[in-house]
Amino acid sequence: MKNCLECEKTINGRSDKKFCNDSCRNSFNNRQNTASNIYVRNVNTLLRKNRKILQNLLPKSGKTSISEKTLKVLGFNFEYFTHVYETKNGNTYKFCYEFGYLNIDKGVLMLVKKS
Ligand SMILES: [Zn+2]
Repeated sequence: MKNCLECEKTINGRSDKKFCNDSCRNSFNNRQNTASNIYVRNVNTLLRKNRKILQNLLPKSGKTSISEKTLKVLGFNFEYFTHVYETKNGNTYKFCYEFGYLNIDKGVLMLVKKS
């Protein structure tokens, strides 16, 4: 027994059906494309892009330093990060998932991977 993803009524017929009819399918798909869902998707895309850029720049082991400008050229968006980590001595790392950066000098960043 399966239920329609839209109206939650029991679906009759093939077991791979997700909706009871086209109307339910359309309502469901329209809701997936509402403005707030699109916003969330866009932010996720930006965060994943930022993560990928950091990942590609970071050597397998350890840290590296890089200019803010280089990151910008590669398409890094400094407004988006997943979390902030502040060390005991007051350094503030910004992370995009497991990859992060710290401002070590004017326009210079150190990239790190969360261990
Ligand atoms: Zn339905």
